[in-house]
Amino acid sequence: SAVRRVSVFGATGSIGENTVDLIARAPEAYNVVALTGGRNVARLAEQAKVLNADLAVTAFEECYADLAAHLEGSGIEVAAGQAAIADAADRPTDWAMSAIVGAAGLVPGLRTLRHGGILALANKESLVTAGPYLLAEAKRHGATILPVDSEHSAVFQALVGEDSAAVERVIITASGGAFRDWPLERLSEATLAEACSHPNWDMGQRITIDSASLFNKAMELIETKEFFGFTSDQIETVIHPESLIHALVGFRDGALMAHLGPHDMRHAIGYALHWPERGHVPVDRLDLAAIGSLNFRTADPERYPALTLARYVMETGGLSGAAFNAAKEAALDAFIGGKIGFLDMARLVETVLERLAGDNSLKCDKLTLDRVLDMDHVARKIAQTIVDGDR
Ligand code: NDP
Ligand code: MG
Repeated sequence: SAVRRVSVFGATGSIGENTVDLIARAPEAYNVVALTGGRNVARLAEQAKVLNADLAVTAFEECYADLAAHLEGSGIEVAAGQAAIADAADRPTDWAMSAIVGAAGLVPGLRTLRHGGILALANKESLVTAGPYLLAEAKRHGATILPVDSEHSAVFQALVGEDSAAVERVIITASGGAFRDWPLERLSEATLAEACSHPNWDMGQRITIDSASLFNKAMELIETKEFFGFTSDQIETVIHPESLIHALVGFRDGALMAHLGPHDMRHAIGYALHWPERGHVPVDRLDLAAIGSLNFRTADPERYPALTLARYVMETGGLSGAAFNAAKEAALDAFIGGKIGFLDMARLVETVLERLAGDNSLKCDKLTLDRVLDMDHVARKIAQTIVDGDR
């Protein structure tokens, strides 16, 4: 088949590295248009050389000179800044990976949709903050969005060939994160280092902490609603410590289809890269006899207030996702910065949502990018004011 033009946004991150790995295994199949990164310019330059990319972009202007020095004489173009990342997204591609962390990933993903190709979507914030707008843009340009998060890839795969009207429920599994076996009263003292170790997955720092608080799962529930169009009532979550079943889809005849995969994101990335075919992906094959058993338990809302907040967002819609995400990012920054405790993150997000709901700011009939970005700004500011006031 023809050589495909591909770009990777957030190439130096955990998802990005895994994507680059798969592309590098079949260089003849791809023409790499753009790779983007942040502060890790040495690694970005290395990737750009290995994949012979046309363009390498760092998100930060102050990193430009460093990136340019690494790529001197390589013939690879260099650029810096958020606008340069958006410009990189304007270069036509057949397939693009959206794996920038945080709300910064929204605009580049949106811009790639204009080419009408495939957007492999790892960035959770895109669907949480602007789901209806993102899907409308994809439709308008004839683009296809494929989920990369393992849970959503699992649901997507379980739905192939099915009538979504026959779906009764979707179950998103959660590992329970770093603190799943901690007594509740100890959680308020959880430190940054403790929150940064995940029992099953090796991921970026922010998503690892979000896994411990279950904010990551909260985001995934909201994404499930936005991407697949299921209602809050249809979407369940269950603690599954082994993280081998990523999601299950239940049909009206009582059948429950489970998707299993190893703790290696290349299975979901590979699915999106090869779709609609199934290509070879070099992940470990699961040895079920060695695994022995799979366990499940209820996700206790008292232990995981983020899940209750996700329900609120799913039922409220409008700008609540944008507010939720921005408040969560601000809360995470404050936790990483040592300004608030682990349990304060959910309280802070709840307070921000309450304030915004109080003056009717979350309502919005038609999402636009401007409204989403405005809400992002407002919610962050409120969160920031609360954090500063608390000190
Ligand atoms: P990482 O933190 O590992 O990587 C983030 C990437 O974004 C890096 O390339 C980083 O550059 C770049 N970056 C950081 N800040 C900015 C910015 N302000 N503007 C532009 N680029 C920036 O994240 P992950 O790979 O873990 O996650 C990426 C996204 O995918 C997140 O939305 C996450 O929730 C989602 N996701 C991740 C999964 C995982 O297994 N890791 C699973 C499912 C979803 P640099 O490192 O050079 O500074
Ligand atoms: Mg996930």
